Amino acid sequence: MYAPPVQRLITELGKLPGIGQRTAQRLAFHILRSDTEDATALADAIREVKERIGLCQVCFNLADSERCRICTDERRDATLICVVEEPGDVIPIERTHEYRGRYHVLGGALSPIDGVDPEDLKIAELYARVEAGGVREVVLATNPTTTGEATALHIAAALRERSPDVTVTRLASGLPVGADLEYADEVTLGKALAGRRAL
Ligand SMILES: [Zn+2]
Repeated sequence: MYAPPVQRLITELGKLPGIGQRTAQRLAFHILRSDTEDATALADAIREVKERIGLCQVCFNLADSERCRICTDERRDATLICVVEEPGDVIPIERTHEYRGRYHVLGGALSPIDGVDPEDLKIAELYARVEAGGVREVVLATNPTTTGEATALHIAAALRERSPDVTVTRLASGLPVGADLEYADEVTLGKALAGRRAL
């Protein structure tokens, strides 16, 4: 129906989350109509993010060098580690301005049905960080979903055994159950952080 390069663009755009066939077509035609400069800027931005952004070697958040900005910021409390599922979950927590500690990004949640086991996530790396010492509290801020809760319980049980001196807390209830942290508003998330409870 379309020339192969146009079809290829539609196919690639259609792979993005939330983009159906119709939206992919609309976006493709928008790109075709736009200035060469704008279209090239989009292509370059995609290429650059893939070339320059990797994962922080300490917390596995997105980083443009070996360590992310939060891990290299000496003002951030290194005795406090907030565990989240995805790099995208760091942003809503940062927006609350309630949290001044560091992070640990797991890269997902445990889900045996989907074949996601502890070794598929950065869980061993978390235990190693905590066991290295200097950590006072681990805040489990995985999503309030079935898999997020299961992940929090799994990690809490392991930390109790490995590092009994470390306090393990979970975000207070009040977050919409089944929703992703990413979509929580700042006020609700801020309250959930402030009211976190021991697990
Ligand atoms: Zn980091």
